[in-house]
This record gives sequence, structure tokens and C-alpha cells, in this order.
Amino acid sequence: MPIVWDIPVKNLCYKHLNLQHHSVHLIRLLIVDNIPGWETDPEMNRWRGHLQALKAIHDATATELDNRFPDYHHDSSFPDAHDSPDYPPSWQPVSVQVAALIDSGCDCELYNLIR
Ligand SMILES: [Zn+2]
Ligand SMILES: [Zn+2]
Repeated sequence: MPIVWDIPVKNLCYKHLNLQHHSVHLIRLLIVDNIPGWETDPEMNRWRGHLQALKAIHDATATELDNRFPDYHHDSSFPDAHDSPDYPPSWQPVSVQVAALIDSGCDCELYNLIR
């Protein structure tokens, strides 16, 4: 299942930046090509009509990967969208997302996000 974190890209580790980058491309494909079998995916449905906002996340994620990881060379541009630029609310609270990232035992920097 694709996931776009409601967490600033600067806080995400390489693994989760990479997964988020794959997710935004996958979500766009699922929406634009209307791929069957994904109708109930909450993350995909969240971004319907908000591809412009998803593009902003794509670009921020790709830039962060390029800046922080010199061996990473982003070469998959995200096409322009002309729907809503508004960021759609998540179906999953940020606190749950932070807990999931902490449980994964990765290098995400989450301590300043715990309230
Ligand atoms: Zn890309
Ligand atoms: Zn991580």
C-alpha cells in the first residue's frame, strides 16, 4: 500500500524518502490511469483531485533525496497537474504515522515531532 507521510521531508530517512517517492508516482498512475483493484485504497483516494499537491510533495521528496544523498540521481519528473493544490487531510493521524516510523526502527528523525 502506498503511503505519503504527513511529516516534513527533512525528518525522513533515506528508506522512507525512497518509499514516499515511489508512492507518489504509483498513486498518480493509479489515479490517472484509473487502475482497477485499488478503489478502496485510502491513500490513493486521499489524493484524487489533489495531484497538484501531490506533485509538490514529489518535488520536495526528490530534491531532498538529491541534496542529502549524492549518489541519488532523480530522473523521474512528475507531470504538471491542474487540479487542487490543497493538501488533503490524512485518513491516519500524524501521531499514528510517527509511531509506525518509530516501530520500523529506521533513521527517521522523529523526536521533535512527538508531542
Ligand atoms: Zn520522481
Ligand atoms: Zn525512516
